[in-house]
This record gives sequence, C-alpha cells and structure tokens, in this order.
Amino acid sequence: MAIETTILVVEDDASLRRSLEVTLKAAGYVAVGVGTLADARRMRAHYKPQAILLDLGLPDGDGLDLIGAVRADDLTPIVVLTARDAEHLKVLALDAGADDYVTKPFGLEELLARLRAALRHAVQAAGSAPIVRTGPLEIDLGARMVKRYGSEVELSPKEFEVLAILASRLGKVVRHQELLKAAWGSERADIQYLRVYVSQLRAKLERDPQRSALIVSDHGVGYRLMAVSSTQ
Ligand code: CA
Repeated sequence: MAIETTILVVEDDASLRRSLEVTLKAAGYVAVGVGTLADARRMRAHYKPQAILLDLGLPDGDGLDLIGAVRADDLTPIVVLTARDAEHLKVLALDAGADDYVTKPFGLEELLARLRAALRHAVQAAGSAPIVRTGPLEIDLGARMVKRYGSEVELSPKEFEVLAILASRLGKVVRHQELLKAAWGSERADIQYLRVYVSQLRAKLERDPQRSALIVSDHGVGYRLMAVSSTQ
C-alpha cells in the first residue's frame, strides 16, 4: 500500500477489537480502535479515516447515529459488524448509508475482502467528478472540460471519453480493450480507431506530439496518462 489507509474500528468488545486491529495492521492498514460512540466521533475527526468498521450496539449509543453523522459529511466507506438474527438492523444500517455488513462471528478474511471492496467503491465514487491535474493539463471530469495552461482545449466527445478514462486512472496503464469498450462500447472495436484518437489528443495536448510525454503508450498493452508535476 503506497499511501497509508487508516481504518477506524468502533467495537466495544475489547477482544474482538484487538483482533481486528491486529488483522488490519498485518494487512498493511493503520488501525485506530475505539469502544464508544463518543471516542468514535473524536477519532474520526482527528484521523479522518479512509473507512470505518462499525459495531452498532455501543455502550453510549447506537452506531446508526454515527452512520448518519458520517453521511452528512462524506462518503467514507462504512462496514457494519452486526449480530446474527439482526436482519432489521442490517436493513436500517444500509438505509442509513452503510456500504456493507458482516455478521458476527465473521471470518477475518471475509471482513478484509468486504473492506477492500468498500474502499474500491469509494475511490470509484470519488472519481465520478474530480478535477485531474497533470503537467499543463486540467481535466474536469464532471464539467467535461479540459484546459491546457489555463486555456480551454476543444475536444470531440470521443477524444474526451478516451482522455477521461486515462485521467480517472492517472499514472496507471489502461488496457486497449478497456479504452475501446469504454469509448466505443465494444472491446472488438478496431484498435486503429484508438490510435487515431490518441494521436489527435496528443496533437492538441502535447508540447511535442512526436515525443509524447503525457499520453504514453505501453506497447501491446495500453496507454497511460502520466502524472507530471504541474510546474512543468
Ligand atoms: Ca457491541
């Protein structure tokens, strides 16, 4: 894990809390464990965790209240830890905005899998309308607008689609098939289309389209939009 991912563990059962902390740390996360709703609120404000594991029955209140408070602010993934035969609580938790739940007693591997999925969804949700900056480019995925050195660049809708997919995964290679599927609706679309659109994008966006520094080809695999410091 390149970037530290902090998980807030809200569980009043001390031995379960400890085993969750140990498991999370072993999996590369930073784990912050608390046993009350009041501490959960405090630690959430302090650590700004990337996800929350939440027991609903807490000594000083109901975990559902925390879900409501979190959702009023942001989309931090929340995985609820519920007791068996508490179907109504699962429904309430999901309605309040929890992402998922696991039923006690749960396997730690299962919990980690749910957590990873919740974190992944959060990244995708956050990726729905951000502004991506790299080198001289500013790509506003929500407004569908691209600026180069602060001036708007006219792109065709397809050019924008291709650029948007690359931008949403800045610095990572996106396979040809994924680009074709996303922009043309089919992985079987001719890869030549993609080459044409990429060369048009380079012509509009790169300082030297012949020696592309932003949209880089990974031969035989795909393309990536390089993450370049914007001072360039
Ligand atoms: Ca409890």
